[in-house]
Amino acid sequence: MNKILFASRNPGKLIEIKSILGGLPVLIESLLEYPHFPDIVENGNTLEENAFKKAREIFLATSIPTIADDTGLEVYHLKMAPGVFSARYAGEKVSYAANNKKLLDELKGAKGEKRNAQFRCVATFIANDFEISTVGICKGRILEKSRGAGGFGYDPIFLPDGFDKTFAEMSPDLKNKISHRANAFRQLINVLTDYFNLVSE
Ligand code: IMP
Repeated sequence: MNKILFASRNPGKLIEIKSILGGLPVLIESLLEYPHFPDIVENGNTLEENAFKKAREIFLATSIPTIADDTGLEVYHLKMAPGVFSARYAGEKVSYAANNKKLLDELKGAKGEKRNAQFRCVATFIANDFEISTVGICKGRILEKSRGAGGFGYDPIFLPDGFDKTFAEMSPDLKNKISHRANAFRQLINVLTDYFNLVSE
């Protein structure tokens, strides 16, 4: 069976990706199965750079067709910050709670449209002579206080448009249907189907 490697060690994300790409006749592995690979430094200036860097480094090391992603939360009023710095908005190796607090502090006093935001996910696929990326967006707004205990990252303060539950209050199934990541990876399905049909011929 053909194999794809997901360039991540995040078990939560792996479950999401397996449920989105589960219909493809390929085995999906992740870096959890390759513990000897060092972590890839995400030092690009854009989400695209980071996603391609992760996929490229792992594909070069393994020759296994590789998918990767990078996500940022973009707040229009903050000139699209935290963006590519979402994981380390309040500093290196800080907690999700510290990043959320910093964002709430930056938006103190901001009302209405000033709290509009979007998650943007760039998903990439790299194989022999083949590089492609897709973008998935989920629009919403940043609340003034955290709500909910599920999910991760900025989920407790992000209310997606059209819903009355934050990402941290909704079921993982619902989040996985409407999220930026689901949107980006769903667009990869056709590309992956064509690619694996081609190499199986
Ligand atoms: P990554 O590129 O997926 O590792 O995401 C970078 C950072 O964006 C994470 O550390 C989280 O803070 C945030 N993030 C990414 N995806 C999500 C999500 O689905 N919900 C909440 N925060 C997220």
